[in-house]
Amino acid sequence: MNITIKNEQEIEKMRIAGKILKQTLDLLETAVYPGQTSMRLNEMAYNYIISQGAKPSFLHYEGFPYTICASVNDQVVHGFCNDVPLKEGDIISIDCGVIWQGYHSDAARTFPVGNITVEKANLIEVTKQSFFEGIKDIKAGCKLGNISSKIQQYLESHGYGVVRELTGHGIGTHLHEDPNVPNYGKFNSGIVLVEGMTLAIEPMSTLGKRDVCLEDNNWTVSTWDGLDSAHYENTVLITKDGVEILTL
Ligand code: MG
Ligand code: MG
Repeated sequence: MNITIKNEQEIEKMRIAGKILKQTLDLLETAVYPGQTSMRLNEMAYNYIISQGAKPSFLHYEGFPYTICASVNDQVVHGFCNDVPLKEGDIISIDCGVIWQGYHSDAARTFPVGNITVEKANLIEVTKQSFFEGIKDIKAGCKLGNISSKIQQYLESHGYGVVRELTGHGIGTHLHEDPNVPNYGKFNSGIVLVEGMTLAIEPMSTLGKRDVCLEDNNWTVSTWDGLDSAHYENTVLITKDGVEILTL
């Protein structure tokens, strides 16, 4: 395992990458409504990131063809953008990354399209909250498994499935670095967190069973049972006293 510890200059670059990404996601949030298309959201994200002098992390990453991943309803992650209008009642998970002077940020949100059911709204809210449960009381010296176990416990206590095939990850000069950050695991297990580590923490939840499958495009991961899924992610910095969220 090769975990990189960032110095203050590197962290400052990641803060800027994180800020631009937050602004991108805020912009997209205002543009999610019935009739909108993920392809248009993708263009908006690309144009905004370029206008800030930054670069999209995902575009061409291992051949991925878009600036954002747009995963609708039962799609968990890595959804492809298209010209199909979003419908009232859909939910869309948008995942995006920004590179600033060689340093990456990575974050995801699930947004409602118009009015959605209480069931879907709860899934979105609890998934978001599971991220905050995961980082509660976390600081340098804690074990990585504390994050994983708290996310898992919170999601499962609400009856949701926790996707295991995909995990959070270290992040820095590469989009995906060591260590993996699973959304399930044992408290007090795993590596010790060190000041200067930067992690993308990203709970992925399902309304039904936690099993997932790969779509024909070999990228998009969907729920096996066809029920909805939500995703929430931020890039964080481990500090002496806690966690600094770089994408909020
Ligand atoms: Mg992401
Ligand atoms: Mg990520």
